[in-house]
Amino acid sequence: MNENLHARAEKLIARERIEGISKPEGEWLAAHLHECPACAQVAQQTRNALSVLRGLPIPLPRGLAARTQFRVRLRAQELREREPKRRLLWIMCAMSWALGIATAPYVWRAFEWAGERIGLPRLLWEVGFGLWWTIPALVAAAIVLLENLRLANENDQAR
Ligand SMILES: [Zn+2]
Repeated sequence: MNENLHARAEKLIARERIEGISKPEGEWLAAHLHECPACAQVAQQTRNALSVLRGLPIPLPRGLAARTQFRVRLRAQELREREPKRRLLWIMCAMSWALGIATAPYVWRAFEWAGERIGLPRLLWEVGFGLWWTIPALVAAAIVLLENLRLANENDQAR
């Protein structure tokens, strides 16, 4: 079978998951997968990899995001009266969050583009995207932790 047909099938398999493909493309792909075990396996692996990915890392940063955002709001309220400088920090933190959510589709595309250019396996840059999502959560968690340590220290000294 022609190499280009398999390359086209693989492209469609990938695109189908992210942005969708047209009806004739879908029909062509279904026909090709029916007669080509190699591409059918690629399609199956992509499905498996994505369902594992959807099941695991993405809900984790989301849950973390909600919890940390709550902490951010709580602390921002607490600090509003006494320390305007820290307030700025929390506002920046919340903004980085909003930005992270707003830019997620672009970052996904950037990862996809870079992954394809470098020739990385699809799963690898998808995991990279998942990890990128956890970065603001980790930064916020670190700030919360440092803040708590500082307060604990001050309480110890006051005692
Ligand atoms: Zn094929």
